[in-house]
Amino acid sequence: MLQSIKNVENQLPFYYFEQISKIPRSSGNEKGIVEYIKNIAIENGLEYYMDQGDNILVKKKGSVGRENEDTIMLQAHTDMVAEKNNNTVHSFETDPITLIQEGNILRARGTTLGADDGFGVAIMLAMLTSKDLSTPPLECLFTASEEIGLVGAGKFDYSKISAKRMINLDSAEENTVIIGCCGGVRTEMTIPADYVSTQKNGIKLTIGGLCGGHSGEDIDKGRKNANIVMGAILSEVNKEIPIQLSYISGGDKDNAIPRENTAFFVVEDQNKAISIIEKAAKSIKTDLVAEDKGFFLEVEKCTLNGHYTKESTEKILKVLSLPNAVLEYRKTKPILPQTSRNLAKVRCSEKGEIRIGFSSRSYLEEKLDWSCAELDKIAKEIGATTYHHERYPGWQGESDSQFVIDWQNAYERATGRKTEPTLIHAGLECGLITSRVKGLEAISIGANVHDLHTPQETMEIDSFDRIYDTVVEFLKK
Ligand SMILES: [Zn+2]
Repeated sequence: MLQSIKNVENQLPFYYFEQISKIPRSSGNEKGIVEYIKNIAIENGLEYYMDQGDNILVKKKGSVGRENEDTIMLQAHTDMVAEKNNNTVHSFETDPITLIQEGNILRARGTTLGADDGFGVAIMLAMLTSKDLSTPPLECLFTASEEIGLVGAGKFDYSKISAKRMINLDSAEENTVIIGCCGGVRTEMTIPADYVSTQKNGIKLTIGGLCGGHSGEDIDKGRKNANIVMGAILSEVNKEIPIQLSYISGGDKDNAIPRENTAFFVVEDQNKAISIIEKAAKSIKTDLVAEDKGFFLEVEKCTLNGHYTKESTEKILKVLSLPNAVLEYRKTKPILPQTSRNLAKVRCSEKGEIRIGFSSRSYLEEKLDWSCAELDKIAKEIGATTYHHERYPGWQGESDSQFVIDWQNAYERATGRKTEPTLIHAGLECGLITSRVKGLEAISIGANVHDLHTPQETMEIDSFDRIYDTVVEFLKK
């Protein structure tokens, strides 16, 4: 077997990791990887099912004497995030990922590594093709385009699944077993605003240098949201001297904590406004977490050609002061954020409206409903409209279920180490899949992968080995 990754215990999964790294597989460009998996199924005489959404299910019969045991489902996504360094020449459409091994660390040359979720795909291919492992019947589901909104998993026909236990291999932390993930929904609020064209003195205020981060996984880290900070400063000024907003823009991606915001507003006493802003900035600076230490604020006098009315300005400020980040914590262990909201984006549209984008997350459906209802309520009060979209379900399992305990025991037998149940405040395909398959229990596990979705992505090789050993151990009789 041709293999260049050195010092690994298990040759087979690493062999497959190398092979799939040669196949371009950015989201939406997954025909090649699906074809590869299909051919493996055919060569090994395995039953398979492919669909229009580029998902592929491959089934393996139970080992001799184990044919009638309960089926276990393994699941991973075939696509990877396509990110590269500015100075890297690489086509994600045609070029293989170049793997670089540095001791125990595996990374790619200038691009994402694709360990998310190539490690899961590789382990599943090894389980399907290994001739000397003892396993119960397996249903291995490879889903497409997870990274662009769980697209493949959303299209799959789950009547093909008979398993009652699913191991999702898409976590990035070895010593935890994930038993729940968030559902989410995006909301766009449109505030009609009256704009007056007239020349007046004003202020340009820019804030930046904040760290930002993932609006789910980083939401409880105390990092400032640039839109919320801007709203707070403007409200502070408006309390003492009335302002009329002329322009505001902040945030970029729906799933990121905004790092920057710029606003222009009309105010009569520019000097007084500046001194209030500087005072507010001082107090913000005393309240920053370490990652946000790059925070800066720039203020300058300017002349403006128009502005929103006072009434419209106050509506906008009201929305910018809504509760943000963690809205509530779980009441049972592990104590983690239960429900959160990120005011992701603020824009002035060409039609003179203000558009504000939110993303809400929760493990519980009723809490997503509640967050939407809160936004509807405020919208109604100020004559705005809301549009809720891209909703997907959450999932919350039991930390002491037999399934979790079986995994913990297998991990301890295979590695001599312990693993703890936890939840992640982000989306995983487990939420969608368990909502479609009645009675399906799930856990999500993974090897240690760092800096996901960036060209710095790395995987710890021995961690990959240990997770493979654990899957083997778990599936043993
Ligand atoms: Zn992933």
